[in-house]
Amino acid sequence: MYDIGIIGAGPAGATLARLVASKHRVLLLNKDRQKCCGGILAPESQKLLAQLDLALPLHTLANPQPFAVTVIDINSKLINHYPRQYINIKRNKFDQWLLSLLPESVDVRSNAVYKKAGVDSKTVEVNGDYLIIHFTENDEPKTEKVRWLVGADGGASLVRDQFFGTDPRLKKYIAFQDWFDNNEIETQTDSLSSEINFQNNYVGIFDNNLTDFYCWTIPKDDQLLIGSAIPLQTKDENPLLPDARNRFKQLKNYLSSIGLNFGQAQKQEIGLIVRPATTNAINLGRNNVLLVGEAAGFISPTSAEGISTALASATALANAINSNKNVLKEYKKNTKNIIWNIRLKYLKKPAMFNPRLRRIVMQSKLTALRK
Ligand SMILES: Cc1cc2nc3c(=O)[nH]c(=O)nc-3n(C[C@H](O)[C@H](O)[C@H](O)COP(=O)(O)OP(=O)(O)OC[C@H]3O[C@@H](n4cnc5c(N)ncnc54)[C@H](O)[C@@H]3O)c2cc1C
Repeated sequence: MYDIGIIGAGPAGATLARLVASKHRVLLLNKDRQKCCGGILAPESQKLLAQLDLALPLHTLANPQPFAVTVIDINSKLINHYPRQYINIKRNKFDQWLLSLLPESVDVRSNAVYKKAGVDSKTVEVNGDYLIIHFTENDEPKTEKVRWLVGADGGASLVRDQFFGTDPRLKKYIAFQDWFDNNEIETQTDSLSSEINFQNNYVGIFDNNLTDFYCWTIPKDDQLLIGSAIPLQTKDENPLLPDARNRFKQLKNYLSSIGLNFGQAQKQEIGLIVRPATTNAINLGRNNVLLVGEAAGFISPTSAEGISTALASATALANAINSNKNVLKEYKKNTKNIIWNIRLKYLKKPAMFNPRLRRIVMQSKLTALRK
């Protein structure tokens, strides 16, 4: 029997496990995976790591460290640059490092997948004061008893969907990210791309014909990442992948058309981003089932940056659990500021994603397109 069963060992799950471990018996289940991520730590994430007294070890860092963002607006054909200090990381090394900080008392099960045991059977049975969770570990079916179940299982959270149903206010995006060898990257002289420092800057690309979110390029060691977040077109779970893939192809065609040559992709990744339509869609949980990180809907609606809100919400939940008071009530109190920060980003959203407003902002050279 465990006090807390955490599903998912991304930044949210690993941080929560670490912060509650001294007072509670913790089980941490994690499906092995390589997270599809840009690996950019925005100033908010840097501040949180400092507050958690964590210094990034060298092996988690990638080169270069971007000091500037370039914004390309394909609709208005405008380009802007503005300063912003990011930390460029190797995302999988970062996640492994967070896991390495866990005390031995945390029971970490890797290759463990919390899942439905069958089409009609329930994954969790409520049994008095505890829950019985069903999962597979190295493909073997297992069960454990936990007092609290925490879904830290990311945007495609099964815990959230299972207990709270699918919420239409959580808009789903499919992210494609291709990795290209820097040796093959060239910008044609006198082309538009020669004005953009793809090798050093983080580049955000906006085109409302492709997506109502955005696309990006990120330099990472000896590679360049090209990615896009494309809305899923249907209300149900059918992702209409061919359409989304086609749009990603259009993005790469556009980059070629402005003179960026990038050869063949060395690696192709795919991921899911869930972007709540409003902060009311953020779901902290109910009774003894709680949600944290992207599973709860904590993510920037403007940049899809979610590492900072994963760290912040995990800290908020850990403080609530450690307080010995009503956990959900404390968790709500502790997340007020995080939700306010996200709310402020919603205010900025039209200036970034409405093509007319974006054009005005970019022409005025305001730096409102910052994350
Ligand atoms: C393409 C892309 C680029 C991004 N770029 C950035 C960026 O540059 N900077 C930034 O800050 N954010 C970025 N994000 C967002 C960021 O990656 C997430 O918001 C962040 O990882 C959320 O952390 P989390 O711990 O809540 O969830 P996750 O990091 O998603 O971790 C969830 C964990 O749960 C595990 N899991 C899932 N289901 C189960 C199950 N059934 N059983 C067991 N384990 C399970 C997964 O394997 C995973 O380890 C990006 C996202 C995408 C898709």
